[in-house]
Amino acid sequence: MTEFKNFIDGQWVATDRTFENRNPADNSLIGPVHEAGRPEVDAAVAAARAALRGPWGKLKTQQRVDLLHALVDGINRRFDDFLDAEMRDTGKPYGLASHLDIPRGAANFRVFADLIRNVPNESFGMDTPDGGRALNYAVRAPRGVIGVICPWNLPLLLMTWKVGPALACGNTVVVKPSEDTPATATLLGEIMNEVGVPPGVYNVVHGYGPDSAGEYLSTHPGVDGITFTGETGTGEAIMAAAAKGLRPVSLELGGKNPGIVFADADFDKAVAGIARSTFENTGQVCLGTERVYVQRPIFERFVAALKVRAEAYRLGDPFDRAVDFGPLVSLKHREKVLSYYQRARDEGATVVTGGGIPDMPGALRDGAWIQPTIWTGLPESSAIVREEIFGPCCHVQPFDTEQEAIDMANDTRYGLAATAWTRDLGVAHRLGEALDVGLCWINSWFLRDLRTSFGGARQSGIGREGGVHSLEFYTELRNVCVRL
Ligand code: NAD
Repeated sequence: MTEFKNFIDGQWVATDRTFENRNPADNSLIGPVHEAGRPEVDAAVAAARAALRGPWGKLKTQQRVDLLHALVDGINRRFDDFLDAEMRDTGKPYGLASHLDIPRGAANFRVFADLIRNVPNESFGMDTPDGGRALNYAVRAPRGVIGVICPWNLPLLLMTWKVGPALACGNTVVVKPSEDTPATATLLGEIMNEVGVPPGVYNVVHGYGPDSAGEYLSTHPGVDGITFTGETGTGEAIMAAAAKGLRPVSLELGGKNPGIVFADADFDKAVAGIARSTFENTGQVCLGTERVYVQRPIFERFVAALKVRAEAYRLGDPFDRAVDFGPLVSLKHREKVLSYYQRARDEGATVVTGGGIPDMPGALRDGAWIQPTIWTGLPESSAIVREEIFGPCCHVQPFDTEQEAIDMANDTRYGLAATAWTRDLGVAHRLGEALDVGLCWINSWFLRDLRTSFGGARQSGIGREGGVHSLEFYTELRNVCVRL
């Protein structure tokens, strides 16, 4: 049994309140998690503040860069431990966690280490009113203590996506991982100590949101900025908390992402692409597709081919390398997704495939398993088409014209991502301009160059992270004007 303690000022801190961390594949107990209360969050924020004033704040850029590279090596040395921890927490299949979660979780440190070494700062020479000259140049100062609040769907990857740039820019962090996935954030504390990151630079407090570590962290006056990934409703609560003291927020929130398939698309690639964007990680990817629009001439054929793909997934023990579809993250989340499966039936959807709980063997019977599901026949006003379900399911709707597809795709309060499939370059570029999203993939999905911007439009978020865009949040830009 593994115990998950808080990591504060380089030390492991137990509390007298624990909650259970369970493996969603079979509902077995992984171990107790020590919930942080206000005193632990206070201590973590104080440690982060002290570290800013201590050796960490005095490091040269190259020394920070070297430490971030050492973190990458440290994670890679313990690759199997991270993999094991992530797979038990989430039930992700081996193929996904070993190719996406852990490698990208490590790579985030390298990308931002390289960025901070190479990024230029602006400078403007100017004429002064009295006929002289002055030089303006920008200095980027760390923002300070950053509160990092994370979801459970890509625990290590989404956490280091924030911790990487935060540390590269010289900040310190207090991380609140999801209560469902505390393991890899905890393990990273061991690596921090191993590679010599000073105590207090990286802290982890465990717990829930309201009346727990999440709320204590987001309302803490000692936190200088909050970066959050999670649901839109939670983002609103965090933004309200951050308003007190005028702390900036970076919010990566929910979505109801469209996938658009034109009749001229490479059919097989489009089917494979939409299957992946709908079902990967059991549909628990913020960028995932839950609304599919298919041009009428290929509609029936497309739905039939997507059904074949959905039914070909191999469910089973995530550690079995042949398995490519895991459970949902928790039984609680399955209740939510199943409520939408029921609602689709109640609203008269045609269930093309799935719609329930699969029959799993042995201990897996107790896990949070669910069938990949496809619906057709619902109006665009249906809750199934409007609300984020965050499960392995999509509704497929026919369309006739490009404008009709754009209008339906944009008819949502969200605006995170879109994927569109066509061979027509004109259509592709027009979609890039017309879709109200932060990320628009054409003939691809989740193809990420980490130098590019990442974030959502509308209620899918505030701000952009990725590449130089991360610097906007993790640093305070200062203009220095020198009269020459
Ligand atoms: P969630 O909002 O329920 O929880 C996220 C984190 O916030 C958890 O650590 C939770 O404990 C904490 N939290 C909850 N209430 C809080 C409060 N009042 N104050 C402070 N902290 C609080 O989200 P989730 O269910 O863990 O994750 C799934 C959601 O995340 C989906 O909506 C998904 O679309 C979104 N997501 C977005 C992105 C993106 O980049 N835009 C990426 C991944 C996931």
